[in-house]
Amino acid sequence: MTDCLFCRIVAGEIPADVVLRTDEVVAFRDISPQAPVHVLVIPTEHHENIGALAGSAPGLTATVLATAAQVAQQEGLGDQFRLVFNTGTEAGQSVFHVHGHVLGGRDFTWPPG
Ligand code: AMP
Repeated sequence: MTDCLFCRIVAGEIPADVVLRTDEVVAFRDISPQAPVHVLVIPTEHHENIGALAGSAPGLTATVLATAAQVAQQEGLGDQFRLVFNTGTEAGQSVFHVHGHVLGGRDFTWPPG
């Protein structure tokens, strides 16, 4: 059994609130949402971070990005959303299976408008 949390979500060993799933990607709601919409998009294949994914699987990287935009549409955000890939511990990455945070439904401008 893998000790990667998100591989275990892909395998269905840990429950998740899945909003979109294909053979290549899974999108599920973040357990600790930082915005009204907060969905994580991951490739089903394990890659540690966005740099590793882009370097070894550019086609899958494009699929992850397109899926993030599709999730935003599906969640009613249209083209108004933030997409974040925390990369490395210093940037706040805590799960080392690449994931894009799709965030939306509140004002992210600074200072808030
Ligand atoms: P990061 O800090 O960028 O690595 O993001 C990891 C994210 O995974 C955090 O926003 C967590 O809230 C989220 N998370 C951790 N465990 C789960 C889980 N079981 N289901 C959904 N989201 C999770």
